[in-house]
Amino acid sequence: QVRVRFAPSPTGFFHIGSARTALFNWLYARHTGGRFILRIEDTDKERNSEAFLNVIYESLRWLGLDWDEGPVVGGFGGDRRGSAGGGDYGPYRQSERGAIYAAHVERLREAGRVYEKDGALWFRLLGERYEAYDPHRKKTVEKVRNTPAVIDDAIRGRVERTEDEDFVIVRSDGSPVFHLVNVVDDITMGITHVIRGEDHLSNTSRHVELFKALGAALPTFAHIPLILKQEGPGKMSKRDQGALIEEYQRRGYLPEALVNFIALLGWNPGDDREKMPISEIVRLFDLADVNQSNARFDDRKLAHMNMLYLLELPEEDFVTRARSYFNAQAEAAELSESGKPEDAEASAAAKSRRELARVALAAPEAYFRAVVRLSQPKIKAIEELPIYTRYFFSEAYPIDEKVRAKVLGKGEPRARLAELIAVLPGVDFASDESIEAALKTMAEAQGQGFGAYQSVARLALTGTNAGPSITAIMRLLGRERVAQRLRDFER
Ligand code: GLU
Repeated sequence: QVRVRFAPSPTGFFHIGSARTALFNWLYARHTGGRFILRIEDTDKERNSEAFLNVIYESLRWLGLDWDEGPVVGGFGGDRRGSAGGGDYGPYRQSERGAIYAAHVERLREAGRVYEKDGALWFRLLGERYEAYDPHRKKTVEKVRNTPAVIDDAIRGRVERTEDEDFVIVRSDGSPVFHLVNVVDDITMGITHVIRGEDHLSNTSRHVELFKALGAALPTFAHIPLILKQEGPGKMSKRDQGALIEEYQRRGYLPEALVNFIALLGWNPGDDREKMPISEIVRLFDLADVNQSNARFDDRKLAHMNMLYLLELPEEDFVTRARSYFNAQAEAAELSESGKPEDAEASAAAKSRRELARVALAAPEAYFRAVVRLSQPKIKAIEELPIYTRYFFSEAYPIDEKVRAKVLGKGEPRARLAELIAVLPGVDFASDESIEAALKTMAEAQGQGFGAYQSVARLALTGTNAGPSITAIMRLLGRERVAQRLRDFER
């Protein structure tokens, strides 16, 4: 049975790269009917925090990546998913596995593979020793000529690497080093496939030496190529715009869309399909189809994917998500009062979103629902809603000056506005169709096209030149508010 693990260190926020590693492991487990194990690599006491640990759990749950074994419940109910602290190979936090590491260091010591130097424990490589000058460290060091480790990487193919220096496995303070704990856990947890980022490829030869020294069979390694940042060379880092998973959650992105997008960072179904249900991705996913070349992050592609998923969301679901987004915005705490200039803009934007959200939530339930439903096919992400819908909820909507200049510079907009105002009392506001019919009749009588009224009405009623159909806007605003706004604008 396939056993794969996602082994994050809780030292920072959960970012796209981690999410992709988790997802590829999860996909492979689900594709093969294997087990997906969550292991927390928290041996670095200084840099770990419980807060970051919770971010990992929360993000995995939000993305729908349920784990079968791990330090806490997988979070999805049912008994197949790991019960509390679930699984037969625990504990699943490295900070609780000290005795296991000590026992393995002892075995290495008995096999003559450990020696002490400068208070630390070193792993002794086998092979012929010689002295060589190391230009990086600018000194002569002892090197080892041994047989190269051959790694049959499921993604990269055959990789040969030679480890040529002994390395520390237990620091002088007694804490075990990453290489040791990582390998010991992969052995003792019965891991069959190590699927991880390419940045770990350089560690793999050390790991192979440790597997061999402990008499364990090698797992299959699969190193996933890097994610490049949106533009230019270089890998996406946690600090790059759009790197944090939490942020998408906050912005009202749909996790299904994000998962679909992340799956395509380095994998494709073998044809040009992009939007695919997760069940289909699970059915098709295989390590052999993961690209060897780096993937590029593209936030427009992600926004587009999110839009496709929003479009097919049932209306009720969309309204619920919109309401919870507005609620979260309305309650969002003031941003830091640090007064830093780079915060000022973000803080003003958050403040304005908060105010917009509060006004929208104060509207009658049915009206809120109607406005939100009208916007569903028009937006890429729920975070656009407060601004997109602002003119439905408040009279304080801004007029886009560029649009004003354009609209008022064409034809006789003032005359059209006056004609529109004059005809309003006789328009039946019951439906989009009745409004459209009345306006068309009026336009014909005036010897004008319907379009001549649309842009000026849209400008006056919404301050923009984009949005839902003008008849739907008029119907929702109602006769009184339409008349008032047109008159105000005429002045
Ligand atoms: N804790 C390591 C990391 O977060 C895990 C490496 C591995 O998957 O082997 O990068």
